[in-house]
Parts: sequence; C-alpha cells; structure tokens
Amino acid sequence: MPLDLSNYRFNLDNSFRRLPRHFYSYCPTQSAPSPTLVCFNEQLVSELGLDFSCANQGELSALFSADPGTHMIHTMAQAYAGHQFGHLSLLGDGRAHLLGEHVTDQGLRYDIQFKGSGKTPYSRGGDGQAALGPMLREMLVSEAMYHLGIPTSRSLAVATTGQTVFRDRVLPGAVLTRVASSHIRIGTFEYAALTQAPGDLKALLDYTLKRHYPDCLSASNPALAFLDVVMKKQIALMVAWMRVGFIHGVMNTDNCMVSGETLDYGPCAFLDAYHPNTVFSAIDSQGRYAFSQQSHCAKWNCVRLAETLLPLIDSSIDKACHRVEAVIRDFDHQYQSQWLDMMLAKIGCDGRQDDDQSLVDDLLSWMADHQADYTQTFYHLTLSRGQQNLNLLKPSLRSWYQRWQKRLILNQYNQAQSNQMMQTYNPCLIPRNHILDQALHAANEGDTKPWHDFYQAIQSPYDYKSPQPHYQQPPLPHERIHTTFCGT
Ligand code: AMP
Ligand code: MG
Repeated sequence: MPLDLSNYRFNLDNSFRRLPRHFYSYCPTQSAPSPTLVCFNEQLVSELGLDFSCANQGELSALFSADPGTHMIHTMAQAYAGHQFGHLSLLGDGRAHLLGEHVTDQGLRYDIQFKGSGKTPYSRGGDGQAALGPMLREMLVSEAMYHLGIPTSRSLAVATTGQTVFRDRVLPGAVLTRVASSHIRIGTFEYAALTQAPGDLKALLDYTLKRHYPDCLSASNPALAFLDVVMKKQIALMVAWMRVGFIHGVMNTDNCMVSGETLDYGPCAFLDAYHPNTVFSAIDSQGRYAFSQQSHCAKWNCVRLAETLLPLIDSSIDKACHRVEAVIRDFDHQYQSQWLDMMLAKIGCDGRQDDDQSLVDDLLSWMADHQADYTQTFYHLTLSRGQQNLNLLKPSLRSWYQRWQKRLILNQYNQAQSNQMMQTYNPCLIPRNHILDQALHAANEGDTKPWHDFYQAIQSPYDYKSPQPHYQQPPLPHERIHTTFCGT
C-alpha cells in the first residue's frame, strides 16, 4: 500500500533535479520482500519536525527499507566523480537513492537518502546492496560524531529488507536512511568539470552557493570565495577529527562534502592507543589516510576542487592559478594554528605561550612511546585537573605534568574554567571499535540489544558525572581491532 508521506510531516522538494539532466538519473529503489525496522532515531525525527506517531511498525519497516511500493516517489541517484587513492574515476550513487529534500518549518533543507536500496545506473559491477552490519556501524558512528559535536551526515533509521547479500558470507540486507545538508561532494565538481558540457560547472556552482553559501554569491569572485569557505570548513573538520581521534579511512574526493560534514562511514575507526601513523582500513596499505595524514589529504582534496574551479575564477588560466594558490597557500598555517589551539584547550590552556607547541608535542611523543590510549589520557588529565589527583597519571608522565602545571599558572582562566574547557574538548566516551564490533557481531546473530545499549551510551559522550566504565575502557590486548573493512 502506498503511504502518504505528508502524513508524517515530510515536506519534500527536489531542487537537485533542476541541475542539468546528466547530474542524476531517475531510478527506482529495489523491493523489500520482508522489511523489518531495526532502529529508529526519535531525536532526529523530532529535530526534522517529522511525526510518525500515526504509523504502525509495518509501515515504518516498509518505508525505511525503501520499498518502492511504499514511498511511490521518483527516487534518483546522483552522478559524481572522484579521486580514489589518487586516481580519478567516474562514480555516482551506486547503491543510494535520494528520496528528496525535506524542508523544515525553519526553512532548513536536508537530503533524505536511502543507502543500500538497490542498483542504479552508477553501480558498475556492484550489487547495489548493503549488509546490516555496515549500516548499523554507520548509524552508530555518525550519531556518535553528532553527539561529539562534529559536523556529520546523520542516520534516521536502519531496516532489514529480507534480501540476502553476498559478501565473504551470506548476510542480511539492510537500508540506512541518511540525512545530510546535501550530498554535493568535491567529486560532484570533478564530475561537472569532466562532462565539459558548457555551463555545467557554473550551474553546479550557482546551485551549491544558493544552497550552502549564499554570502559567496555577492563576493567579487564567487568561485574563489567558495574555494576559500570550503577550505575553511575542511580545516575545521580535520581539527575536530583530530580532537577526538577519528580516522576516516577513505578520504577520497567523492567522500568529501563541500558542506564540511563528515560523510561515508566505511572503514573508519577511533584511535585506541595513540600513534600518528595509525591506519585501520584494510585497503589503505600505504597509510595514505593515516591519522596524522588527514589534514594533508584534506588539503590535497581542496586542490582538486580548486582545479575544477579555475575556469570560473578567471578567463586567464595563469591568473586563475595565482589566485587559487594564494588561497591554498594559507591552508597549512590555518590548520596548524587551529590544531594547536584545540590541543591546548584539551590540556586546559588558554592563550598562547612560547613553549606551548613543544608542551603539546612532548605529550604526544610520550603517548606514542607508551602506547597510551588517546581518549583515556585526556580524560585522566581532565580528572586530574579537576581533582588534583596525580595518582590517575602514569609515573613516566610526571615530569611533563610538572611543566604542564607551571604552564597552567599563566592562564587567564581560573582552574574551574580551565577544567570546564577540558571537559568540553575531551570526551569520556567514544564508539570504540572493539565494542562496536561485538555489538555488530551480536546483531548479525539476531541480537540487537548490545547495539541499542551502545547507541544509547554514545549519546552522552561528555558526561563526566556518570562514568560508564564498560564503554570507556580501552580494549584488552586480545580485544584490540587492528583492521577494518569497507563492508561494501
Ligand atoms: P564508497 O567506498 O562507499 O565511498 O563507494 C565508492 C563508490 O562505489 C560509490 O560510487 C558507491 O556508490 C559505489 N559502491 C559501493 N558499494 C557498492 C555496491 N555494493 N554496489 C554498487 N555500488 C557500490
Ligand atoms: Mg562514498
């Protein structure tokens, strides 16, 4: 039975289809023979102004498994290109369908996209499907990122379809409903540049500016202003990832949103023990997307965006290159400065003193040498600042601790303010890989309770008043996960 989506207060538009025709393809979602809703994000439902109180479980299951008979909407897949591990390819949504853009009462516009909803003209050799484990993984990690205060796509629901998916074994098929301020990627601009159809690039830029950065429209050079703002968003995002120890794992240009939101939770993982070269992704054998490389990758991606924008920046290619270089040249300085401010905030220091860089560097060196857990180290420093309890810290950190105490005296902030700052920069709880893995394993066996319990816990990552030791503890040596997989 088709459902009337307006009954759930969906207010759907589709502005993307007003772009030239080859930016997307209409294609139906695949049918879901036996849909079952696995999880549902009530908080996001209310943030979006949606209301499913009149829907029964069967309707919710059918809708969120993307069954085409239920939503009766001309869904579409978006075209894009992308540099994957440095190599450019034509891509596109190979297993995702845009239901539409939901416009809230406040006038905010969000893509509502199904992922794992079947083949599209961009599927290449893929089956268009997704397995339950990776979709639950994306939902939990993306929502954890949101609660950590990091720009990200969100997850509204996961439902199984009743289809089976063939990977290294047979797995239950599932659909994730993803919500994002758009899915315009650096790769979408690369696609527009590759089509070489006159006007494509300009149409995409105008569309993107109207949707995300209307202030740039009145800039003397809108394309250059756009590059500058995307670069700033990427810098802020990289600093945020570094703050919580997040490793994205596949920072290809097709996974890089011009909105500055984190997208595509494939082989991503959070650091346990700190080491700058940490890599989890099984396909990243060269360490291209290692923890400490992420800002370089973001800069590299911004250069790819800059290349596509050149014809819109100046009709003289030389002049355009000069103008672009002047913007990109500032990336390192801006990143370094914001990263240092962030790291100083993590250790409760305000302002800047001469020795601050080495104070931070020496702490990180100690952490790398001692395989210290990234989240727990800053958590314990935060507790020690609050309680002056030195026993929380390892003896080998004592000499650094003395230097740190001397530095703290130079603060403008008093102790309570500095401790408060540390509590907002240092989460107690992150979605640890080993716990997530155990929860996904149970879900594959039909028990989703561990996943739901963990999903609840990650919604209060800065709650210093109610510790949750089970979720906070680093993995024991035998629990440590060294490798993650895309799960496509
Ligand atoms: P990702 O690694 O998830 O960013 O995906 C890279 C590209 O492969 C995108 O164009 C995806 O749509 C496509 N893709 C990933 N998995 C599948 C799949 N199972 N079937 C079809 N296309 C896929
Ligand atoms: Mg992707």
